[in-house]
Amino acid sequence: MDFKLTEEHEMIRQAARDFAINELKPGVIERDEKQEFPKEQVKKMGELGFMGMMASPEYGGGGMDTVSYVLAMEELSKIDASASVVVSVNNSLVCWGLDTYGTEEQKKKYLSKLTTGEKIGAFCLSEPEAGSDATSQKTTAIDKGDHYILNGTKNWITNGNSAEIYLVIAHTDKEKKHRGINAFIVEKGMEGFEVGPKEQKMGIRGSDTHSLTFNDVKVPKENRIGEDGFGFKFAMKTLAGGRIGIAAQALGIAAGAYEMAKEYSKIRKAFGTEIKNHQAIAFKLADMHTSIEAARHMVMKAAWDKDNGHNYDLSGAMAKLYASQVAMDVTVEAVQVHGGNGYVKEYHVERMMRDAKITQIYEGTSEIQKIVISRSILAD
Ligand SMILES: Cc1cc2nc3c(=O)[nH]c(=O)nc-3n(C[C@H](O)[C@H](O)[C@H](O)COP(=O)(O)OP(=O)(O)OC[C@H]3O[C@@H](n4cnc5c(N)ncnc54)[C@H](O)[C@@H]3O)c2cc1C
Repeated sequence: MDFKLTEEHEMIRQAARDFAINELKPGVIERDEKQEFPKEQVKKMGELGFMGMMASPEYGGGGMDTVSYVLAMEELSKIDASASVVVSVNNSLVCWGLDTYGTEEQKKKYLSKLTTGEKIGAFCLSEPEAGSDATSQKTTAIDKGDHYILNGTKNWITNGNSAEIYLVIAHTDKEKKHRGINAFIVEKGMEGFEVGPKEQKMGIRGSDTHSLTFNDVKVPKENRIGEDGFGFKFAMKTLAGGRIGIAAQALGIAAGAYEMAKEYSKIRKAFGTEIKNHQAIAFKLADMHTSIEAARHMVMKAAWDKDNGHNYDLSGAMAKLYASQVAMDVTVEAVQVHGGNGYVKEYHVERMMRDAKITQIYEGTSEIQKIVISRSILAD
């Protein structure tokens, strides 16, 4: 075994760290307050290659491995989880799905714009009455020969308004249940496609979450991804990889909050000494460091499984379940280490505590991860 990162991995990590500190940190508090999408920063991340890290180079992607991607996700999330979720959705849900299952034409037309950040992607599975229970969705796409007619509502869509390319999951034949589901590429501007108002969120407030409605939207047949009936499998496969990205986001939020708490403990004095010298604080930092290190190993193992052609359903679900719990625990303690300062915006940790919560909800709640894990370990 070798736990050492390659020189290339170290370079990617450093590039993401530099970008996060120099470009994301200034303005992160204001963007959170105003619920402002990090438009300029996302454009720059596209130019630097963070928007299509794992995608094939012939379509503008970086051709990198999943380990590189999670290293970048951790560093970006240490500073700004609203920006990192844009990276996560674009990379693991949209680019990966198109790169792996798209046709040559779809890759040329759509993927090459997504990998460079010229256009942003969104992944549209959830509906008002179908979140965890994705098979209960009501959106339909009726086959009309050379096109489908799409009708329905999707909600909670990350990049909902900023995106221009949407992967939409819909029923084509309800009788066939999950085998009657397909995935489609829908473009902003198609007639009958409307973006609803922005959600007012607790955390990741800089990210852009909207509901979407489709009223008789004409989607060309060539925009269907994979064979007829492949949509549910497409969504599940894509989300299995997406979870590794969200696990890395959770890890980054935890690691960022821990680093702030550690530095604060060295400068804040109480009872005549720096608070790090009080064992209650030092032990908190020890617990935070230990759980973050454990989460990092789980995230890396899941990424390594994916890169080496192993099944990563179990390791990805465990990494997300554990890292998201660590993100919650560590951010709550980071606020505590900061005392009253932890409760105000300028010290960042209160935002990180709010941001951490979403990692237990999207791309499969913690309860759903436990279903995936228990089914996997009880299968044999
Ligand atoms: C900020 C944000 C961004 C999002 N981005 C996207 C996106 O880009 N694309 C997209 O498609 N979706 C997105 N989502 C939706 C997200 O994936 C869903 O909210 C999530 O899957 C949970 O679905 P739900 O909200 O309908 O909750 P429900 O499914 O109604 O669950 C409610 C509660 O019941 C629990 N529960 C449900 N079923 C079971 C069960 N069988 N056993 C035990 N417990 C269960 C859940 O764990 C949860 O605690 C986003 C959500 C948010 C809040």
